[in-house]
Amino acid sequence: MTESLFYQLALAGVRGLTPYQPGKPIEELEREYGVRGAVKLASNENPLGPSPLAMDAASRVLGESARYPDGNGFALKAVLSQHLGVSADQITLGNGSSDLLEFAARVLVSPEHEVVYSQYCFALYPLLTQVLGARGQAVPAKDFGHDLEAMAKVVNERTRLVYIANPNNPTGTWSRSDELEAFLAAMPEHVLVVLDEAYYDYVDEAQYPQSLAWLSRYPNLMVTRTFSKAYGLAGLRIGYGVSHRDLADLMNRVRPPFNVNSLALAAATAAVQDQGHLQRSREVNRAGMAQLTAAFKTLNLDYIPSVGNFVTVNVGQPAEKVYEALLGQGVIVRPMAGYGLPGHLRVTVGQEAENGRFIQALEAILKELR
Ligand SMILES: *Cc1c(COP(=O)(O)O)cnc(C)c1O
Repeated sequence: MTESLFYQLALAGVRGLTPYQPGKPIEELEREYGVRGAVKLASNENPLGPSPLAMDAASRVLGESARYPDGNGFALKAVLSQHLGVSADQITLGNGSSDLLEFAARVLVSPEHEVVYSQYCFALYPLLTQVLGARGQAVPAKDFGHDLEAMAKVVNERTRLVYIANPNNPTGTWSRSDELEAFLAAMPEHVLVVLDEAYYDYVDEAQYPQSLAWLSRYPNLMVTRTFSKAYGLAGLRIGYGVSHRDLADLMNRVRPPFNVNSLALAAATAAVQDQGHLQRSREVNRAGMAQLTAAFKTLNLDYIPSVGNFVTVNVGQPAEKVYEALLGQGVIVRPMAGYGLPGHLRVTVGQEAENGRFIQALEAILKELR
C-alpha cells in the first residue's frame, strides 16, 4: 500500500489535523544547537520534580512490571475519594487528564454534533473535536480569557460538549465561581461541561470555584485534574475526571483496559499523601511568578496576568525570532503563533536560577533586536 492511499483512506477529520506541538525536549536542543545545560520553561512542568515519596513508591513496584496494572486503580481511587470528598465510582482515571477530555467526547460526540470552546483554548479541544468529525465553535475571547456569556449563547440543540479550562492554558486567565455557576445554570441538560482544572493546585484566589461541590446539583458537569503539573509527574502520564457515576460508567466502556500503568498508579497514590511537596511547589511558583513579572515590567513588556505556573508575555515583535534566539542561548520557551498570538511567548515558572537565566537571555536578545 502506498503512502498516498493511506491519505485517501484516512478520515477527513484526521487528514485536516495539525499534530499537537509539544515543547522542544532539552536533549533535542542540546543536540541541534550544541549547547550544554539548557533550561526548559516550555511545558508547564514542576521545576522541583516529583515528590520523593512518589519516586520511592514507583521504584518499589518496578519489580512487579511483568504483571498488568490494577485496571480499576482501586488504591488510587480510594485515596482520591477521601482527599476530594467524592465517591470512588465518580472517578475515572486517565493516562494523563487528556484521556478524560477524549473519553467524554467519545461517549457523547458524533459528526452531527457541536463542541464549544474559547478562542485561546488548550490545543487538544479543537483537535479532539475534529478527529470525531464534529463542528467546533471557537468563541472569541474576552481579555484573553473565556467569555462565558458569549459561550452560553452559541449553545444549541446540537451542542454536546463545552470545554472550559480554569485556569486557562495558554493565557493563565481564570473564571470566578459566580460566573461559572451562572454558566452551568444556563446549560441545557444535554450539554456536558468539561471543566479542565489542570492548574487547580496553583490557584490562590478567594473567588476561584470549589467546583466539586457543584457535581451534586449539576449532573452535566465533569471536572478533570492531573498529576502532570503541580504534582510533578508529567512523564508518568496520570490524571482523573470526577463526574456523575453514570458518565463515569460510560467512560469506563470506551477507556482502553490498563490505560494507566502501575508506576503511575503507585506514584500518584503516594503523591496525594505528600501535601508538603505540593505546598513547596506552590511557594516556588509564587516566588518565580513574582520574579518573572517584575522583569517584564522592567523590560516594559505586556504580559497576561496568570494564576497558573506559566505566564504569556508580549515581546513586542514577531515572537518566533525571539524564541529562536532564546534557543541559541539554551533556553526553551513556547511560541504562541499556533494559538493565534504571534507576538507572545509562554514561559513556565522555573526555579530562581532558571528564571534568572531566561530573563538575562531575553534582555540581551531584545537589546540586540531593537
Ligand atoms: C497540561 C494540561 C492538561 C493535562 O495534561 P495531562 O498531562 O494529559 O494531564 C490538560 N489541560 C490543560 C489546559 C493543560 O494545560
